[in-house]
Amino acid sequence: MKKLNLIPYPEKIEYLGGSVSAAVLDRFTKQTAEPNEYGEEGYSIQIDETGAVVTAGTAYGFFRAEQTMKQLRNYAELPCLCITDSPAFPYRGFLLDSVRHMQSTEELKKLIDAAALFKFNKMHWHLSDDQGFRMESERYPKLNEIGSYRSSSDFGGEHIQARYGGFYTKAQIREIVAYCAERHIEVIPELDMPGHTTAIIASYPAVSCRRLAVEVQTKQGIFDNLLCAGDEKTFAFLFDLLDEICELFPSEHIHIGGDEAPKKRWEECPKCRAKKNELGLKNFEELQGWFVNRIIEFLAAKGKKAIVWNESLNSNNLDTSATVQMWMDRNGKSAVWANRGNHVIVSPFFSYYCDYPYCQTPVKKTYEYDPYFKGLAPIMRKYVLGVEAPLWTEYIGDFDRACYLAFPRFAAVAERGWSRKEHLDYDSFKLRFACLVPMLNKTGIKPAPQSDWDPDKIHRITDTVKFYKNKIDLESIKNSWNTTYRKE
Ligand SMILES: [Zn+2]
Repeated sequence: MKKLNLIPYPEKIEYLGGSVSAAVLDRFTKQTAEPNEYGEEGYSIQIDETGAVVTAGTAYGFFRAEQTMKQLRNYAELPCLCITDSPAFPYRGFLLDSVRHMQSTEELKKLIDAAALFKFNKMHWHLSDDQGFRMESERYPKLNEIGSYRSSSDFGGEHIQARYGGFYTKAQIREIVAYCAERHIEVIPELDMPGHTTAIIASYPAVSCRRLAVEVQTKQGIFDNLLCAGDEKTFAFLFDLLDEICELFPSEHIHIGGDEAPKKRWEECPKCRAKKNELGLKNFEELQGWFVNRIIEFLAAKGKKAIVWNESLNSNNLDTSATVQMWMDRNGKSAVWANRGNHVIVSPFFSYYCDYPYCQTPVKKTYEYDPYFKGLAPIMRKYVLGVEAPLWTEYIGDFDRACYLAFPRFAAVAERGWSRKEHLDYDSFKLRFACLVPMLNKTGIKPAPQSDWDPDKIHRITDTVKFYKNKIDLESIKNSWNTTYRKE
């Protein structure tokens, strides 16, 4: 039987025989179950001649059921059926980078509505980085006066000579957090540290190793500036800032970054060297572990858990209460981490990164990536909390481009995170997504055309070459082939 046009596809659909007008959904009855009966987000929908009954044990469950009903309303006539549904993974979300390019609160709300439609339950909001600081801080106003603005933008070889920036006021942040809460989406803010902190250091040089004035970065990349691990001033600053952040974001988790932090500045810094020796640490990676663990301990005292990027495992001493977000893990440390009974979220660069063109990362590749990643022991699968699709915005200057790259990728990751393996079928996903495009269009989201997100082999190569080189030559075709088909 042809699948109903639903994404993510429900756990179980029983067909009861016969059909009814979809109008029965407009006057459904709510029935509250015992919370344990359906799990935190589970629900059932029964549709027959007598009407529609939605059963769930929690507000989350009722909300997820409503999203299914929204999609069912695309039909005029529905088969009589009983849907019993719950997610495969508890963590299903997207990352939005509002640093490299900001989005208006209206745009954020459109994106959040679309994410909710596919039953995402987390929004990881990347709000601080080298190129800008995007949260209002009353405690540290220079983070906004200086850190929120860059003098130009130099992403992807394009130079835009114009001051760029701004920040979300506390009122705007509260508005977005509340908007997400109504949709049962948790907003997880990210304060990246000790690297990716040029905007912070530009505002308050005293928290860096060299204590010298720097400019907010205009380029993408990995930079040497780090917060100083050897100076207590750094921790006092971070604790104050985290107090402010925790007050704004009621989320269980706070993301504290930990990625791409070259140790050059720490190696040169007398205070960092002294701290490393005082603690008897073997190397500066261990010093990062100590740094991150202090922050984790501070957050734990406030009842918060930390998420970190997988480079934080390089220290080999990361506090086991942290959840590791795996994005680029060449040495398999995330698998070792999970196999020891610690939590992981998967955001694989080669499959889930939404900022790359579809020729390089077609939706098929995203859809078919197995969150039970290489090296994970089958009995440790429960330590994979779920999936997250990152939308980095160096190359995404406007909302239409963001939507073009995020959809249908968000839908693909959402299905991977919610649906059971036996229902995963890329060809069916293509058909079902096509049927949901008009719904997205109505909410102001324009997904990419299918010919772009489901490219043939020739276009995968030629378009990838164009993206990187803007011209076609033999050498770049060879490079592109290697990049495109690596790991497949
Ligand atoms: Zn230092």
